[in-house]
Amino acid sequence: ATPTAIMVGVGKGAQNNILIKDAESLEMAHKVNAVILDKTGTITQGKPTVADIRWENEVEASILLAIESQSEHPLASAVVNHLKEDQVTSAMITDFESITGKGVKAKAENGQTYYVGSQRLINELGIALESSLETSIDQWQNGAKTVIFFADEQQILAVITITDQIKVSSASAIERLKDMGLEVFMLTGDNQQTAQTVARQVGVTDFKAEVLPSEKADFVKELQQKGKIVAMVGDGINDSHALAQADVSIAMGHGSDIAMDVAKMTLITSDLEYIPKALKLSDKTVKGIR
Ligand code: ADP
Ligand code: MG
Repeated sequence: ATPTAIMVGVGKGAQNNILIKDAESLEMAHKVNAVILDKTGTITQGKPTVADIRWENEVEASILLAIESQSEHPLASAVVNHLKEDQVTSAMITDFESITGKGVKAKAENGQTYYVGSQRLINELGIALESSLETSIDQWQNGAKTVIFFADEQQILAVITITDQIKVSSASAIERLKDMGLEVFMLTGDNQQTAQTVARQVGVTDFKAEVLPSEKADFVKELQQKGKIVAMVGDGINDSHALAQADVSIAMGHGSDIAMDVAKMTLITSDLEYIPKALKLSDKTVKGIR
């Protein structure tokens, strides 16, 4: 495309809530034949709220509050908001650490280490789940809820269920992408069952759950090695490697600064309808249609 056509394209993008950082990605976008969508915050609103906290053992909610207050994960803010509504006050903790793609941990004043995170994290700690709890977890996850755990080194202290609404436009945007002949994939660090329920609700058949941030980037690479031109759409710190690897990278406007820094395009309204619009804009720009 001519420099003028590109300028017009970038301008049209801006009018349509699509911020395009460089000309190259606007030119590349019309070649895209595979789109990878992150789940949390991209397909879903990324405004998780706690549905329920079920305490398994006696423990201080103040330790849970203290740990999640130090995490930047959206699930952590949901837990913090919930506990604050219940007038919980924060304990003192030290040695806070995040465990990439799995959760967080810290030490309390009693010298014990506490964990908050996924079932995978619990498994890795060697903590077994009672079968009645496993049944409940299955049911929650089949209802698209995310289940996270608060534990010490020996046992589960609380089970937390979290809901995150699917954006109203996600299903129709995905349908449009498929109508355009694109392959659509979903990637998430969340568990298999929750992922499957969300994928089904928005019409995505190809998805991968429990992926670590580096594995998201590996998945992009795999598709590229198969000859695909890949667009990656994400909102989180955990998407930044994958965004950097993709041929076209699209961040959500509400997302983390890192995602927007890395991505070459940003959807200001975080509305997935603008993904097919961006790809069509690229097509028109390259073909010189006004
Ligand atoms: P996603 O792609 O869903 O944004 P992440 O890699 O950020 O995935 O997180 C993967 C999983 O790790 C979450 O679904 C959750 O189970 C767990 N997790 C990460 N951070 C936290 C936290 N601060 N509190 C509770 N759970 C967490
Ligand atoms: Mg996300």
